[in-house]
Amino acid sequence: MSVNLLDFNYGGLSEFCAQIGEKPFRARQLLRWIHQSGAADFASMSDLAKPLRERLATMAVIEPPGLMSDHAASDGTRKWLLSVGAGNGIETVFIPEANRGTLCISSQVGCALACTFCSTGAQGFNRNLTVAEIIGQLWWANATLMSNPAECSAGEAPVAGVGGNGAALSVRHAVASRPVTNVVMMGMGEPLANFENVVTALDLMLDDNAYGLSRRRVTVSTSGLIPAMDRLRERCPVALAVSLHAPNDTLRNQLVPINRKYPISELLAACRRYLASAPRDFITFEYVMLDGVNDSLLHARELVRLVQDTPCKFNLIPFNPFPHSSYRRSSSQAIARFRDVLQQAGLVTTVRKTRGDDISAACGQLAGKVHDKSQRTSRKAMEMTK
Ligand code: SAH
Ligand code: SF4
Repeated sequence: MSVNLLDFNYGGLSEFCAQIGEKPFRARQLLRWIHQSGAADFASMSDLAKPLRERLATMAVIEPPGLMSDHAASDGTRKWLLSVGAGNGIETVFIPEANRGTLCISSQVGCALACTFCSTGAQGFNRNLTVAEIIGQLWWANATLMSNPAECSAGEAPVAGVGGNGAALSVRHAVASRPVTNVVMMGMGEPLANFENVVTALDLMLDDNAYGLSRRRVTVSTSGLIPAMDRLRERCPVALAVSLHAPNDTLRNQLVPINRKYPISELLAACRRYLASAPRDFITFEYVMLDGVNDSLLHARELVRLVQDTPCKFNLIPFNPFPHSSYRRSSSQAIARFRDVLQQAGLVTTVRKTRGDDISAACGQLAGKVHDKSQRTSRKAMEMTK
């Protein structure tokens, strides 16, 4: 069986080269072809000797996930549904802004953690994504956006269209500046529950011979898997966002069930440990604004007291509804009042703009196509019929 070279970081490619009797510098050349030039076949790799190209073609492939659909929102946000086999699909979103382009990447097919306000969580869990499927999202985004650079700037509303792998081939040797300047692991799934594959993909995002992003421009968002946060700090300390969503354990236990295992005080201690190695001197706390649930002034004041020893910024996310969700979005007045309390206490607080509304590309709306293996959805259906 052929190996998929998209599964390898520099270390993995070096080992592969050693196994086939090639010099280590070939790993660097391959990285550049695959990730910088978007090459999907070996024939185009002009600085590799022809016999080597032919040999590679017999033993390896460069195979990103297939493109199932491509949607463009009126605000320029772009969403791709990528096929990951067995009828499953994952979503990747590109959000262009004036001075940066952010790609929101998925890490799992579904999610097992079942946060009660999250569309991915409601679908149950199928499996972890491979490295090729994780980095393949960035590979696709660069390939598609660089083949049509006009689509990368804010305000453009590109025409939706599905290209085959041919779209990628046309961008080989493209020298246009990279459209994706920032990556956030805030798509489907809990990245730290797929630790090894996510970290290998992070290696590629940071590698100067691949995507060359700085650690500050790559953010992992977690619901708070403490042991994995500690491992990330040691292995690859990129920027960290933590989904807090509640100022006390009683409420967080309901919203983010993993809190029963890793309660808030331990989570905050892990955040402070992380800061010693983090590329930024604060943790970003995400806080979804749920009408009448976690959005009162009392909650805001409790939150201020809670984080007083933890250098942090807040990102308030207006709840994005999805079919069958039982929550409502807080009113804009409630969100503004909540923000004011945090700001008056000296906490830098932003309210996340909702982008890509018209194509269901906003935070927490990514649904993809998940065949639930945990059978949570069928259990739920059973309960509803009781
Ligand atoms: N599993 C990770 C990352 C993916 S979710 C995590 O939970 O952090 C990215 C962010 O979107 C998280 O902060 C998550 O809590 C938030 N989110 C999930 N569902 C949402 C919804 N319906 N509306 C707004 N934000 C949501
Ligand atoms: Fe999973 Fe994050 Fe959704 Fe919770 S919010 S269910 S951890 S994807």
